[in-house]
Amino acid sequence: GPETETLLYLDGVSVSFDGFKALNELSLIIQAGEMRAIIGPNGAGKTTMMDVVTGKTRPDTGTIYFDGNVDLTKLDEASIAELGIGRKFQKPTVFQHHTVWDNLELALAGRRGTFAALFRREGSSERERIEELLGIIRLGELRDMEAANLSHGQKQWLEIGMLLAQEPKLLLVDEPAAGMTDAETEATADLLKEIAKEKSVVVVEHDMTFVRALGVKVTVLHEGSVLSEGTIDHVSEDPRVIEVYLGR
Ligand code: ADP
Repeated sequence: GPETETLLYLDGVSVSFDGFKALNELSLIIQAGEMRAIIGPNGAGKTTMMDVVTGKTRPDTGTIYFDGNVDLTKLDEASIAELGIGRKFQKPTVFQHHTVWDNLELALAGRRGTFAALFRREGSSERERIEELLGIIRLGELRDMEAANLSHGQKQWLEIGMLLAQEPKLLLVDEPAAGMTDAETEATADLLKEIAKEKSVVVVEHDMTFVRALGVKVTVLHEGSVLSEGTIDHVSEDPRVIEVYLGR
């Protein structure tokens, strides 16, 4: 069978806020090269899960292994980012008064001077990489446009391109389709599928149509741990999942 390698392993991770368990012994494995969708009702712990992986929140108990034996719970946010974990928040934070091209150039330059620069892709000049990124994010034709003039969806894609410029091994994406038109939502699913050919991607999402379009393994979180896992058809027929969603 195909070789699989664990990229991210959350092992019994718990986080409490004032005695409330946002994550409750959460265990989760993401394979290298995998795209995974994480769903779950409000308050299920999805954001907190991304917060503990990126070092924004430190777990009370549990271990988070990344890329071998590196324990992320011992590292700060900057070190975790340097190891190759990129996070896309819902709100795009592009440089509004710079062009699409310049935004990508700035993102590439931002990598310089960090130790991650040692691992730059060989043989690919900066211009070529920017061209490549423009192709992936479908903004080639809009390279000279000021970011401020892009649509909401296009800004999201630009920010994804800027994250890719950091050459992450794992990309965490928070509700990429939120606020998008149907056409943009469809394009975003295609774009993420293309990115997932090169990287591991974890997508936190509410939009079931979008999750279905991704066609990847789904993890359902509830009360800070995994309620169900499998294909979208499998989890949506799981009685525990139905109960949790209909109970609201
Ligand atoms: P989701 O992203 O699935 O909606 P969250 O991870 O945001 O869920 O939240 C899980 C629970 O933890 C929620 O009940 C939320 O109110 C609580 N929570 C999250 N972050 C904090 C915080 N910084 N302080 C207090 N409570 C928090």
